[in-house]
Amino acid sequence: MRLSRFFLPILKENPKEAEIVSHRLMLRAGMIRQEAAGIYAWLPLGFRVLKKIEQIVREEQDRSGALELLMPTLQLADLWRESGRYDAYGPEMLRIADRHKRELLYGPTNEEMITEIFRAYVKSYKSLPLNLYHIQWKFRDEQRPRFGVMRGREFLMKDAYSFDLNEAAARVAYNKMFVAYLRTFARMGLKAIPMRAETGPIGGDLSHEFIVLAETGESGVFINRDVLDLPVPGEDVDYESDLTPIIKQWTSVYAATEDVHDAARFEQEVPADKRVNTRGIEVGQIFYFGTKYSEAMKALVAGPHGVDVPIHGGSYGVGVSRLLGAIIEACHDDAGIKWPEAVAPFRVSILNLKQGDAAVDAACEKLYAELSAKCVDVLYDDTDQRAGAKFAAADLIGIPWQIMIGPKGLADGNVELKRRSDGAREIMSPADAVARLV
Ligand code: ATP
Ligand code: MG
Ligand code: MG
Ligand code: MG
Repeated sequence: MRLSRFFLPILKENPKEAEIVSHRLMLRAGMIRQEAAGIYAWLPLGFRVLKKIEQIVREEQDRSGALELLMPTLQLADLWRESGRYDAYGPEMLRIADRHKRELLYGPTNEEMITEIFRAYVKSYKSLPLNLYHIQWKFRDEQRPRFGVMRGREFLMKDAYSFDLNEAAARVAYNKMFVAYLRTFARMGLKAIPMRAETGPIGGDLSHEFIVLAETGESGVFINRDVLDLPVPGEDVDYESDLTPIIKQWTSVYAATEDVHDAARFEQEVPADKRVNTRGIEVGQIFYFGTKYSEAMKALVAGPHGVDVPIHGGSYGVGVSRLLGAIIEACHDDAGIKWPEAVAPFRVSILNLKQGDAAVDAACEKLYAELSAKCVDVLYDDTDQRAGAKFAAADLIGIPWQIMIGPKGLADGNVELKRRSDGAREIMSPADAVARLV
């Protein structure tokens, strides 16, 4: 992509409405545009990152055996009356009427709708286990939308729903999601710690929140420092094998949100020098809720003995759009964003330090063509900005690798390669730079 042809409305000034660094940087880097409180348009740079994050979430759900579908954003109020949540959900739910005065709502979550789909088709335990997910926009009329995409009103969520014959089988499904979440967040360069959590309006008796530690987070958390060093299962993890050893390893080290924190246990179990009380960002949550929805909504299957039984369910959310904020909170410096490679909007940027200089232009074009031919995602800064402005913009938008090409270096046959994560710089030939990046 040529920057001269791209749409990257970088802001020079710090937007004053932004209270935290990720919100500030997303606005300054031209990633999002607020259209109403908590409602954002995703501009090209932000949209590229959103898609990358979404794809990692999708790949790890698929790997665990979950199946993707897509449910609508609008739902019938009557469906929510069946579960009893239409009235219980309160003002966070956006209620809408169509021209026939039929009551609808913009889905804040999809337990009811997926249960309706399930009960329409699945009649026997032989079709189980089943885990269905979608990645879809949600609306919650948050009392205080803030921090940009971190607490939006319209936001993108991955939500999965598991269906099993009994509690033991449902726990197997829960464990699969637990492992898939460990892998998902690690692939994005995040340390997201599973913590025992309250179940809230979803209901149920078993839940973990996945939390990224950050001073700007909205949840208070208590952890044993050791949890930060636990190993994340590799790509070769066998989801059909017994995953309980992995779950045991992660859940036997103290980590809890303030809602369920047990001070006495914390002090007894965790040596003083390992106790951490800090804040964090909830990037995902998993629930086992048993027969809460299946009983209310009559989602029954014929069991092995022919008797109809309500299925045991769980639901599993990931805040896809919130993750952009969480990643930036974890990966930035004073100059801007430092994207982990897996989610970066482009992998490499080429900075032409003297646009209009025939030799420099030619070298940049050649490098741009070579990298593009090798399928490296490149943003080529071919604008006529001065070098200082190009450096600042490249650091701000956080592309992991910058190749700087100017007349001086080029006279010796060299370019400069800079790694954004730690600022390390190296002088090398353009050919070596290509070899390094493919
Ligand atoms: P929170 O405690 O932050 O309000 P929640 O517990 O209400 O979140 P869940 O119902 O568990 O949210 O939804 C699953 C995931 O969706 C959350 O873990 C979070 O990452 C994301 N999420 C929830 N609310 C928002 C929001 N208003 N904006 C962006 N992401 C959100
Ligand atoms: Mg909430
Ligand atoms: Mg929460
Ligand atoms: Mg939650």
